[in-house]
Amino acid sequence: MTTMLGVSLTGREVVFIGGGSVAARRIPRLLAEGALVTVVAPDVTDEVRMLVASGDVQWICRGARATDVAEAWFVHTATGDRRTDAVVAEWCESRRILCVNASDGAHGTARLTAETRAGDVIVGVVSDAGVDPGRAARLRDAIASRLREGMLPLRRRRRSSAGRVDLVGGGPGPADLMTVRGRRLLAEADVVVADRLGPTGVLAELDADVEVIDVGKRPNHHPVPQHEINALLVAHARQGKRVVRLKGGDPFVYGRGGEEVAACLAAGIPVEVVPGLTSAVSVPQAAGIPVTHRGVSSGMHLVNGQAEITSSTLAALADDAVTTVVLMGVAGLPRLADAARRAGTPADRPVAIVENGHTSSQRTTHTTVGQMVRDAAATGIRNPAVIVIGDVARAGLLLPEREQAGDRHR
Ligand code: SAH
Repeated sequence: MTTMLGVSLTGREVVFIGGGSVAARRIPRLLAEGALVTVVAPDVTDEVRMLVASGDVQWICRGARATDVAEAWFVHTATGDRRTDAVVAEWCESRRILCVNASDGAHGTARLTAETRAGDVIVGVVSDAGVDPGRAARLRDAIASRLREGMLPLRRRRRSSAGRVDLVGGGPGPADLMTVRGRRLLAEADVVVADRLGPTGVLAELDADVEVIDVGKRPNHHPVPQHEINALLVAHARQGKRVVRLKGGDPFVYGRGGEEVAACLAAGIPVEVVPGLTSAVSVPQAAGIPVTHRGVSSGMHLVNGQAEITSSTLAALADDAVTTVVLMGVAGLPRLADAARRAGTPADRPVAIVENGHTSSQRTTHTTVGQMVRDAAATGIRNPAVIVIGDVARAGLLLPEREQAGDRHR
């Protein structure tokens, strides 16, 4: 029978008898934990030699003696020789030192688990019966991927005093276009501060006692001002809570993520950013539009449609090798059309307006610089939408010639 123990080997002596591939594979895991590792072996592999050279591992270059294990908390046999391993296991047994017997795992006094870590949690797998490392590793991998995806209840019930903030980029909407890191942090969060855009569906999957604060803009309710959002993040983290600031797209692309990071840093709150798929690239993509395309567009200029038109935007609009991508641009379309005229953009330059990209209500309107204001009004285009100006926005860009020239075949 086996009892699984969480043992702390930090700062404690661990002895490997044997310096072959098994030792090479397992030593790093013990070093990561801060164990003081000694290898006793007449010869070692190159990997072990490198660990010795880097000063992390001590090597006693000779065959093992009983006294080698005397000071150890934990011993690992890995000589590759059953009889030697068994002798070492005996030395340990008589001294009550826990010992992994690499050539006979089921009969050692200890076994290493197949383990996976997620945040501050360690999950280990061992079996009570025979040794089957493949099976333990497969089970560990399955648990690891569920943990990474945030599908398992990782959240602490009792808070530690160490609050923190994670800015999580949620991508354009669907939950499976979020990163697995973002999903895991959401699963660990005590408080989620969310926007209107992004993967709002995942909020419904959170535990009932997770506090969700909606700071997004709504038609009849004013958005929470940025300084108040910053203060909210800091205040909750100060109470020792894990705070996730969930945003649409990427936190650092017109997401005011930089201001939130700065506010946390100024308040001494640990803060990290998890990138997300920005709508600037992923929403055109959803409509079959590559923002760059060999031979068509060699670069992209990204603008906020609510801001003043700058000279760099005029230059991009004038350059037929550059794609101009506009976020938050629906209300500013007339101004944009005016700028394009000033920049000398040909009136027939293709434009695509993609609303609600990656959602079931996605709609793409193909038009031109000259017609876009009229067409947007006629089709009732609304936010959120990404406006793409440039030859990549031409309908059917990626279709084979023959299908594009469909008329001729009719
Ligand atoms: N940080 C976000 C952008 C925030 S600004 C990102 O990286 O994507 C908000 C603008 O993003 C909207 O006005 C719209 O232009 C665009 N947007 C975000 N999600 C969208 C979606 N699913 N479909 C179309 N546009 C979207």
